[in-house]
Amino acid sequence: MVQEYRLLIGGEWTDSSTGETFDDLNPATLENLAVLQAGGREDVDRAVEAAKKGFKTWSETPAPKRAEVLFRAARILQERKEDLAVLMTQEMGKVLAETRGDVQEAIDITYYAAGEGRRMFGETTTSELKDKFCMTVLRPLGVVGLIAPWNFPIAIPAWKIMPALAAGNAIIFKPASDTPVLSIKLVEILAEAGLPPGVINLVTGSGGTVGKAIVQHPDIRGISFTGSLETGKWIMGECSKAMKRVSLELGGKNPVIVMDDADLDLALEGVLWGAFGTTGQRCTATSRVILHEKIRDEFTARLLAKTKILRVGDGLLPETDVGPVINKAQLEKIQRYVKIGEEEGATLLIGGKTIDPELSGLPGYFFEPTVFTDVKPDMRIAQEEIFGPVLSIITVSSFEEAIEVANNTQYGLSSAIYTENMVNAFKAIEKIEAGITYVNAPTIGAEVHLPFGGIKGTGNGFREAGTDAIREFTEVKAVYIDYSRKLQKAQIDTD
Ligand code: NAP
Repeated sequence: MVQEYRLLIGGEWTDSSTGETFDDLNPATLENLAVLQAGGREDVDRAVEAAKKGFKTWSETPAPKRAEVLFRAARILQERKEDLAVLMTQEMGKVLAETRGDVQEAIDITYYAAGEGRRMFGETTTSELKDKFCMTVLRPLGVVGLIAPWNFPIAIPAWKIMPALAAGNAIIFKPASDTPVLSIKLVEILAEAGLPPGVINLVTGSGGTVGKAIVQHPDIRGISFTGSLETGKWIMGECSKAMKRVSLELGGKNPVIVMDDADLDLALEGVLWGAFGTTGQRCTATSRVILHEKIRDEFTARLLAKTKILRVGDGLLPETDVGPVINKAQLEKIQRYVKIGEEEGATLLIGGKTIDPELSGLPGYFFEPTVFTDVKPDMRIAQEEIFGPVLSIITVSSFEEAIEVANNTQYGLSSAIYTENMVNAFKAIEKIEAGITYVNAPTIGAEVHLPFGGIKGTGNGFREAGTDAIREFTEVKAVYIDYSRKLQKAQIDTD
């Protein structure tokens, strides 16, 4: 029996108003894992009404008390880490070591956000007038809409949910339709940890219906969205019409620069992990490797040798290095980009094909780890996000050219440089246009106590995690307390 899941509205698990459902497939085996409710606009309306009630109680609960719920949730997540990781590999496809990491990231951010319950610092400052006290306090936004992608099925929802809760907001949460079960597990854990009814409401269903209804709902005060640039642009447009807070975490086209003085063994490991970890389906995945011409041939030969021995398969098997891609549409998109690369004149060094289910015995959505060389910085495969196991090699003849190529993209999420030259390392930190720069480490590997996000087409100035996490979900209020017992006029009473 395939398990059926419902929507969570006002603390009750309920059927959707549409009466429709959708399936949740394992991308490695194509087995149906679960049946989910295809929610509609009416469900979002109901969820918002419940959240408004939830907000009243939750925002009035002292922040350290709110944090206690999160501490309990973190401990439950820890206890269930292995079960959740196995389920995630089944639902999303990435290998077990990585799904364990995904759950660990959720644990880390939950503890981190819980700690904010006893911080959430404002500022105190001086006044220009006598007998007057000035400070700032943080206030929750109200009911917020959280929309998540499928590539980090529990970590990304937790990055949004935990700080939003710590700050006292109530939530309408729409998980990605490819990975809803992990999100439901997270919400169940929060309920078990004692989160009052209505504080988090979960509506599954398509982006075009449920996502849209959340974005457009007049009583939702803020949207936190992680997903593609295209969807992000639309959401930003809608939110600007309604003067609604919106924070966007979008795509990437992340470069690794390997200089001629780099430790090539280290760089090779980093590029392989960055490009083919999570089957290239990370917003921070390495999709361009920018090689100094002096090491190009040696690095390329060694990269090829290592790529050749990567084992593609079901992520539950210990021998698997690279799991499936998420769905058929994604598989087809990757195949299209390979064709585009060839037509543009890039040289396909290895891979480039969908793995034949008949020949391989792999029934799911598998694609060969793929490397292109002779890629020019303006080619589409060097510009557009492919979101699959496809790496483009671009050759440069100087550090300055490497930086220029690295920055030649509409995105600005992650970046890396491998060099033993301290000057070049610091110059890269200064010059690369990205929210994250790694030195002698791959483009993937963010830690939750640092801000995460990007510039240019990757985001709109907000950051998730780190000290910025609370800022995403709060308004700052300036407070003046006059204890002079007389009318004092700022800027006028200047003596
Ligand atoms: P997507 O198609 O934009 O979908 C993301 C989420 O938005 C899903 O829950 C989707 O619902 C929903 N959605 C779709 N259309 C919507 C609409 N009109 N209104 C509201 N919600 C809507 O992106 P994806 O393909 O799932 O995710 C991959 C993208 O996410 C990549 O571009 C990747 O780089 C980016 N990403 C960025 C970060 C970051 O932090 N910067 C992290 C991870 C991923 P359905 O699932 O029902 O379609």
